[in-house]
Amino acid sequence: MQRKFISQLMSSVLFLAVAPVSFAHAADEMDGTLYLKTNNSIHLFLATEMPNGDRALTSQLNVPEDTILAIDIKDINDSLTLAQSSPERVNYPYIIPGQKNIQKSRLGWACGIRVVDVLDEDLRSSDVIDRTDFCISLPDLRQASSLESNGNAIRQSFFEYKIANTLGKMNSLAKEIDRLRKDREEFGIVDKAGSTETIISPIKNCGKGCIVATSEFGMRRHPVLKINRLHKGIDLRAGIGTQVVSVYSGKVLATRTERNRLTKKVSGYGNYVIVVHPNAKLETLYAHLSAFKTKAGASVNQGDLIALSGNTGIGTAPHLHFETHVQNKRGYTAVNPRNFIGSMLQIVAAFFQSFHFNV
Ligand SMILES: [Zn+2]
Repeated sequence: MQRKFISQLMSSVLFLAVAPVSFAHAADEMDGTLYLKTNNSIHLFLATEMPNGDRALTSQLNVPEDTILAIDIKDINDSLTLAQSSPERVNYPYIIPGQKNIQKSRLGWACGIRVVDVLDEDLRSSDVIDRTDFCISLPDLRQASSLESNGNAIRQSFFEYKIANTLGKMNSLAKEIDRLRKDREEFGIVDKAGSTETIISPIKNCGKGCIVATSEFGMRRHPVLKINRLHKGIDLRAGIGTQVVSVYSGKVLATRTERNRLTKKVSGYGNYVIVVHPNAKLETLYAHLSAFKTKAGASVNQGDLIALSGNTGIGTAPHLHFETHVQNKRGYTAVNPRNFIGSMLQIVAAFFQSFHFNV
């Protein structure tokens, strides 16, 4: 055991020493996640088991262009490798919307897809979106763009597949990531991906006992739209122009502006920023901003200014909408930000909540 441990440890150390730039860098930044943006509207499918034990896919939802998806590089590599070596194993039969018959597929599919963000208020607040096991056809996958903020090695391996249809880089990357994960599980070896940071307030210079929640996480009647919806974050009181900072170090996944599909007016979240914090196994989202102070792909330190708060999108008063998406076994799920910043909130916040109606 001792010997095995030492040899494993040595191989990790050697590996990190030999390949510090390619993989170690990617793993630290992105933890094996490939983030993609759709260039057109696409169908996402759910895998179901047929009576004979085979897998079949049913169309689950249609997401518009500019949707951010995520998939683990190992999942995508497994599917693409099979698609080349024994395609019948990923040519799952599928059922298209409005039809009952199962269609045979020659497309090939990749599963394990997660929807990170969608520019559609209704879709975003539906619980369907939180599923993490969507499947996507390989042609649709190939059309998607990798985001500027992916780990370099991961982005390059996907690029190589798209351009040359070769998987060499992705194969070795997936193998390396797999090995490091196993080492971590078996021996608790912590590489640089272990976070030592303690979360800070998203509102600059407003720490313990300073922030005021004006609306809580959870199901509620939407104050403007008058329908029941999941409120995926917490609303924090913040006047227009208040400095908004990244709560952990990480990388800016996207700066986005949501618009009404018909009127093209700024709607929903308005201007918002998504930051990924692989070391803390967290994604954070900051919405209704008046100005961006960062851009997609930028590395940020904890406490770095990323935006100014505002009142863009649907809302009744200026505030900061703050979300925390926590990594679990199958992906990330929006959880109550109070789990993270609860100790910084004013106790009287609950009382104020009955008088403030923000989105
Ligand atoms: Zn909100």
